[in-house]
Amino acid sequence: MALIVQKYGGTSVGTPERILNVARRVIASQQEGNSIVVVVSAMSGVTDGLIKLARDVSSQPTEREMDVLLATGEQTTIALTAMAINGLGGKAVSLTGAQAGIITNGIHTKAKISNIAPRQVRQYLKEGFVCIVAGFQGQTLEGRITTLGRGGSDLTAIAIAAAVKADMCEIYTDVDGVYTCDPRVVPNARKIDVIAYDELLEMASSGSKVMQSRSVEFAKKFKVPFEVRSSFNTNRGTIVKEESIGLENVVVRGVSIERKQAKVTITNVPDKPGTASRIFTALSEANVIIDVIVQNVSVSGSTDISFTLSADELEKLGNLIDRVAAEIGAGQVTKKSGIAKLSVVGIGMRSHSGVAATLFESLGHGGVNIQMISTSEIKIAVIIDEAQIELAAKLAHTAFGLDRVS
Ligand code: ADP
Ligand code: ASP
Ligand code: MG
Repeated sequence: MALIVQKYGGTSVGTPERILNVARRVIASQQEGNSIVVVVSAMSGVTDGLIKLARDVSSQPTEREMDVLLATGEQTTIALTAMAINGLGGKAVSLTGAQAGIITNGIHTKAKISNIAPRQVRQYLKEGFVCIVAGFQGQTLEGRITTLGRGGSDLTAIAIAAAVKADMCEIYTDVDGVYTCDPRVVPNARKIDVIAYDELLEMASSGSKVMQSRSVEFAKKFKVPFEVRSSFNTNRGTIVKEESIGLENVVVRGVSIERKQAKVTITNVPDKPGTASRIFTALSEANVIIDVIVQNVSVSGSTDISFTLSADELEKLGNLIDRVAAEIGAGQVTKKSGIAKLSVVGIGMRSHSGVAATLFESLGHGGVNIQMISTSEIKIAVIIDEAQIELAAKLAHTAFGLDRVS
């Protein structure tokens, strides 16, 4: 008998019919002799709807109350899923994040899990119940409701799987697994059979939102293998696990894109110790998250510095950067939205050369201009015009031999 954690995302529980589909799948899996913990997201669109409601009543909703509000999305789904299973003759019980023992720090809307004590889950499982746990939510030690950041039900599932020492963790979604690129962007993307944690982590943190990146980080840290698969069929999905021999034979595992980025350039920055620190300390104090940073070669004692951030963060920035530029005696500040990032990812890059050349050549031939470049051991990322991002993804996908052969 296996202990399985199954997570169903928003689309998979998006209608009453789909909740009944989940209920049938869960009952079937239990009838095969397994013990099942189910983690569910809010029905698709519900979290976005709640955020909109909050903004309708306040331009800056209090974060504590935001979490109280957002947690209701998942609370609706646990009740409906448990009712559906019970209605079909199964035996299920719903548990909020708090009841499932998920303790977090107090950083509202992006809380981190600090401890999990799933006593009630263990007890109900022992009594033969399917436990339906609300994803995305927890509580602080003082009992305040918190949420784990967008896509946080993935994290709930991985964390519960680690805590109950599940034999398997299955992430059910609306695609057949992790693809070589978002299949909505590159229609002939292929499903990946096996991927290393580090590769999915890089893909997820550079725009492939099929899994929340923090959940992959958690899975890597606590060595929780999992499978991403579809709730609409029974096809095998993508196994995500530690690196193993053979995985590095593939140079590029996948291509990620991230739209809605922005670029800030400060010209004529005095080229002396401490100026970069002044700029980036001010940004960090304003909690602005920076992505790629490029500093040019200095010409006659001054240099240009460019950095990227999400377009939303640019709004948060206001005129902060103009003030800092004036203080350090720099020249003009230009802010440009409408840019995007394309990343190619693969652990095979560590042992293969020519990856950058192949990427740049494919983009160059396709008429895509590269504005900035950044690399890590297993990733090469380029900043380009947002209008060309889909074209660029298709060019890179083909150049690295990732296209599906039909
Ligand atoms: P869920 O609601 O089940 O959590 P998400 O919408 O969060 O589902 O994630 C699934 C979506 O992720 C897919 O519909 C797909 O468009 C998108 N996606 C982005 N990149 C990839 C990728 N590389 N492989 C598969 N899906 C991807
Ligand atoms: N409902 C939350 C969101 O939309 C959490 C999740 O779906 O994983 O981000
Ligand atoms: Mg998701």
